Amino acid sequence: MSYVIIGNSAAAVGAVEAIRSVDESGPIALYCDDRNPIYSRCMLSYYLAGRVEEQDLRFRDDDWYEQMKVDAHPGVAATAVDPEAKEVHLAGGGRASYDKLLIATGGRARALGRPGAELPGVFCLRDLDDAKQMLARVHAAKRAVVLGGGLVGLKAAYGLRERGMEVSVLVRSPHLMSQVVDAKAGELIRGRLEEHGIEVRTGVDAKAVTGDGGVKAVEVSEGEPLACEIVVVGKGVDSNIGVVAESGIETHWGIITDEHQQSSARDVYAAGDVAETEDLLTRERTVHAIWPNASEQGRVAGFNMAGQERSYPGSLAMNAVDFYGTPVMAVGNVRPREEGFEEVVDYRPERGLYRKMVLREGKLAGLLVVGEMRGTGAALALIKAGVPVEEIRELIMSDEFDYAKIVRLVKAYPEAFGEREFRLTVRSGAGG
Ligand SMILES: Cc1cc2nc3c(=O)[nH]c(=O)nc-3n(C[C@H](O)[C@H](O)[C@H](O)COP(=O)(O)OP(=O)(O)OC[C@H]3O[C@@H](n4cnc5c(N)ncnc54)[C@H](O)[C@@H]3O)c2cc1C
Repeated sequence: MSYVIIGNSAAAVGAVEAIRSVDESGPIALYCDDRNPIYSRCMLSYYLAGRVEEQDLRFRDDDWYEQMKVDAHPGVAATAVDPEAKEVHLAGGGRASYDKLLIATGGRARALGRPGAELPGVFCLRDLDDAKQMLARVHAAKRAVVLGGGLVGLKAAYGLRERGMEVSVLVRSPHLMSQVVDAKAGELIRGRLEEHGIEVRTGVDAKAVTGDGGVKAVEVSEGEPLACEIVVVGKGVDSNIGVVAESGIETHWGIITDEHQQSSARDVYAAGDVAETEDLLTRERTVHAIWPNASEQGRVAGFNMAGQERSYPGSLAMNAVDFYGTPVMAVGNVRPREEGFEEVVDYRPERGLYRKMVLREGKLAGLLVVGEMRGTGAALALIKAGVPVEEIRELIMSDEFDYAKIVRLVKAYPEAFGEREFRLTVRSGAGG
């Protein structure tokens, strides 16, 4: 069995390690347009901030490719996939044949789509080279404007602020992280950023970036232009599906995959930010572009590619981030808009604590926590297990809630919790 993997990040690593746990010797060739060895994108903002070195971003040993017997081709992009011929076309004209192929090309930052987007000084923060290019400009710059109040935009704002820059975040929506948290949590996050000198303007859109040979200002929908030398575009992520454009493989937002992470073409798998899977809770097709989903999908794909059948249970919308010591976690549906959801809220401003549990048909459909993370791992296990929680809703919201409480409950009411599946979920959750 020969394997080809396109990509070199969370999903690719998950797949390689799963394949090698089943098949010790089948040749694995890995192609990646990025020349850098494996690194964590989640930590790029700490690198930008000067809190960690480049080496600290590596989450696998330098000799990982040798350990895994992977024939790696850094700097070689895949340009097309031909499922009929079972070949990948490579930049420079080469071809790579496969028995099983994994597409793990991830996502790219959504374009700004405004005049001036091509000016030097306009960046996104998607890969290590983006961070390096931004840093090369930071020394000669004083002010930065971040366009977008999502996770990546705010992480970039943090990194640049830590470098001593004056930073403004412009958000079209009425509050920060509007795709992830509710208005209350958005306001708490805003307060935390403002305390650390990051200006936040909501309900404002960028009309254009202006400058001559480099960024000078951002024109906005309301008020005076904002002078700046750096603009960071954080408008979201699009899946990198270009490689299958002519292949006949089914795509929508991402490459559509089945429960084995297989695409519509036999022996072609997709995982991570490029793959469209089902949401674990809603069963709707979606791309939840976060690291744990990518890694798990990669593992599932790898096992199936190597002949060991595994099913992906579905991806979870889950964001966990820390703003200057204030943790924020949002899982599942925390902003229900339709009928049939119940919200239970605990807001204690004196402790900086905000907790919201969203219930549907007696089960946990979402959890939002700002300020304290105690008990959230246990609540996450309940969401994943999809068990009824009506009887223990007060307990979940209490300060005493933890794994030990769930284990006791499971022992007391095994039939209610569907014992076997629940125990497995608790264990994998506890293992991080
Ligand atoms: C700044 C930042 C912060 C983030 N913070 C968090 C966080 O705190 N928590 C969290 O869960 N998630 C976070 N994410 C999201 C997380 O990093 C992604 O979900 C994850 O990296 C997806 O992994 P992936 O393997 O699917 O794709 P990617 O990590 O995007 O990797 C894709 C790989 O494919 C390669 N590639 C692309 N096209 C080609 C081609 N044509 N040929 C060859 N190679 C190609 C790329 O070079 C890369 O190696 C963050 C992302 C960013 C950018």
